[in-house]
Amino acid sequence: MKILVTIRLPEDARAILAEKHQIEANDLDRPMERAQMLRAMGDKEGLLSTITDRIDAEPMGRAPHLKMIANYGVGYNNIEVEEATARGILVSNTPDVLTDATADIAFALILATARRIIEGDRRVRQGAFQDWAPFRFLGSEVTGKTLGIIGLGRIGEALARRAKGFDMPVIYYNRRRKDPLFEETLDARYKALEDLLLESDFVSLHVPLTEQTRHLIGPKEIALMKPSAFLINTCRGPVVDEKGLVEALNRKEIAGAGLDVYEKEPELAPGLRELENVVLLPHVGSATGETRSRMAYLAVQNLLEGLAGALPTHCINPAAFSEQEESIT
Ligand code: NAP
Repeated sequence: MKILVTIRLPEDARAILAEKHQIEANDLDRPMERAQMLRAMGDKEGLLSTITDRIDAEPMGRAPHLKMIANYGVGYNNIEVEEATARGILVSNTPDVLTDATADIAFALILATARRIIEGDRRVRQGAFQDWAPFRFLGSEVTGKTLGIIGLGRIGEALARRAKGFDMPVIYYNRRRKDPLFEETLDARYKALEDLLLESDFVSLHVPLTEQTRHLIGPKEIALMKPSAFLINTCRGPVVDEKGLVEALNRKEIAGAGLDVYEKEPELAPGLRELENVVLLPHVGSATGETRSRMAYLAVQNLLEGLAGALPTHCINPAAFSEQEESIT
């Protein structure tokens, strides 16, 4: 079958795909231009793509034989899944394999914002480290502080486990409250969103981007946070009203923010870059060699399963599988 791969894959993962299928791939380590992707879709039965590709009705409409979209990533807000399901196209993602790497980055942002690590590095390079003094470069303690997790799924849970090593009480808000045994084992207490915002020293976001979570954190929510608290976002940029965040940080309504993702990525909201009390990363939650390799294998595995007529291990829309089966019988 013919497959379009919009990202650069590790050689061995690509070879597995090429054993059985004919591949057209992006060999450059940068996003494929949309026009190029659209041109290439016509004769494809499989697509392996990622967050930088918007997979809506246009590319799907160009590919009358498309059976399967394998997303390289766990978040799939870049894909119009309902549209795919209506067309009987399977969609898969790559959960679990990036959970630890992303939770590590969230915790790194907690430490970096509270202890002013990046700012300290900048000052040393600028020659501002001339002597040690008791009141210089003071940050906030992390150990023992309350961590509020919004979205206690795979990554949220992995962050909670890391926080236990720092004796941090963990509170969480989730669409559905977890069962009591899970809460007890993780030692995490459920809170209404408002209460979580009022009580946390660090608020870390781990929800998917959906219509319900877009701007979940805006000026009203930030105003509830303690002036000493930090906001950490490693999920998706549009979950936070970034303009509102910049205004709140300018007014020192909260102590700082650690961001890996942005509302209009890779653009930043005006004023964000100039702020001293933020740590800004270039969407590197899953960016370790080991994790990216596991993501590639998993995306390939899902794609091979789907193209072979099986239900992919990490299928997001099993309803499309029923549609495909019905059209065969
Ligand atoms: P997950 O296991 O599906 O966890 C998401 C959690 O959010 C679930 O517990 C879910 O609750 C909860 N949730 C969903 N909608 C909600 C709402 N409206 N209000 C409150 N809670 C809600 O996903 P994951 O693997 O942890 O990944 C989370 C997100 O992280 C991904 O969707 C992706 O966007 C992002 N991510 C970013 C990077 C990066 O590079 N920065 C890397 C990996 C992932 P239920 O239990 O009710 O479903």
